[in-house]
Amino acid sequence: MALRLAPAGAQAKVGSVPAGAGTTVRMVADLQRALGRPSGNRRWVMVIDTRRCIGCSACNVACVAENNLPPGVTYRTVREVELGEYPKVARVFMPTNCMQCDKAPCVEAANAVIPGAMKKRPDGIVEIDYAKMRGRKVFEAATRACPYGAALYYDDGKNHTDGTPALQPYEKRAACEYGRSWTREEPAGATRKCHFCAQRLDAGLLPACVSTCPGLAMHFGDAAAPKSLVTEILAAGRARRREPELGTEPRVYYVNDWVDEIQAAPAPASTNRRHVNCSTCHSFGR
Ligand code: SF4
Ligand code: SF4
Repeated sequence: MALRLAPAGAQAKVGSVPAGAGTTVRMVADLQRALGRPSGNRRWVMVIDTRRCIGCSACNVACVAENNLPPGVTYRTVREVELGEYPKVARVFMPTNCMQCDKAPCVEAANAVIPGAMKKRPDGIVEIDYAKMRGRKVFEAATRACPYGAALYYDDGKNHTDGTPALQPYEKRAACEYGRSWTREEPAGATRKCHFCAQRLDAGLLPACVSTCPGLAMHFGDAAAPKSLVTEILAAGRARRREPELGTEPRVYYVNDWVDEIQAAPAPASTNRRHVNCSTCHSFGR
């Protein structure tokens, strides 16, 4: 699968975003400072450093647990994709979720079927009204309008333990989304998608995928705050958005500039191939 990514800012510097134990502490501090300002003054963004992603899907597991997701609904996917052109190619893991686009075509498409089904919040999160966005017709309209794929899911009311002697308590527990608690039955028949864990943000917590990622690939914060970590990363011009020519202005960015290094380097000899994402090969200069 080929992806098109365009730089968000100035000339890219090659490498990974610095990350360490202090990164998460800093993001939490950034988040809590942002919550002190009116929601319309915040600009939530997610930045994913693909060099740090090891494809473990721990973020998916955390998301499913946080949002009590039923079978067939995953707010997030981690696909392996190829970047660059042969012979200078890289295979990378690309975690993907709803990009909370500033010009979201899904909102217009859904609201044309059921007015008020979707809306863009002042802080940028694209929200679904579970009471309104019900049935396959509106789900299919929004899905057709979304250019990114794997962002919207239909909740058909199934449970992971259907067909077993007992429905397990973890499936029956209430989940908190969009500012309130929902029983398992309530969102059944509705469209579902990532909302940057809005319920956790409200409580001063990072999205579940960000706080779980063992590779420290995930970054989150307020791009309207001049000193936040995400503002720093975007200002360095190292993050890119998918399919910029579509004009959807997504709020999810990818740090993929290290692929430029591979493209600029001489073609590898057949006896001198190195694994581009492999720390062992890089450590030994292979
Ligand atoms: S948890 Fe982090 S490293 Fe693992 S797949 Fe998700 S983004 Fe990648
Ligand atoms: S990624 Fe798709 S579903 Fe999410 S806001 Fe953008 S267009 Fe809508």
